[in-house]
Amino acid sequence: VPRDCGGDPGKLRPDGGGTKKLILAFHFTLSRPAGWDCETCRKKGLEAKRRCAWHAVGQAGEPRVVWARRGVASEECPRPRISAQSHAWIELYATWKRTGRGDVMGLEARDADALALLEAEWERERDEQQRR
Ligand SMILES: [Zn+2]
Repeated sequence: VPRDCGGDPGKLRPDGGGTKKLILAFHFTLSRPAGWDCETCRKKGLEAKRRCAWHAVGQAGEPRVVWARRGVASEECPRPRISAQSHAWIELYATWKRTGRGDVMGLEARDADALALLEAEWERERDEQQRR
């Protein structure tokens, strides 16, 4: 299947929020922050502090950054914001990396875009680690 160079409706658009969501999901998954899961939020009553999306009180009040890493910030608990699609792309990226970064031509354009985006984010991550 030839890659569409034009406006593929399935593509990640920088302005569509999909890219930002995927990058956030990626950094959140990479950092594996302990205690950042809905179970802990609920048990320890952190919904309001972390502005969890499933919690009405958590969503009330002034927006503020509750989680941040390497210039990626979230104004609400990132956990419920990680979509199944973002998760699937992160898994796909991990597999692709593990199997030697093969040809992406066989992939759907949106999958290939997601891989390229995650690879760029990973490189940014690695550069920053080396700088320290
Ligand atoms: Zn939460």
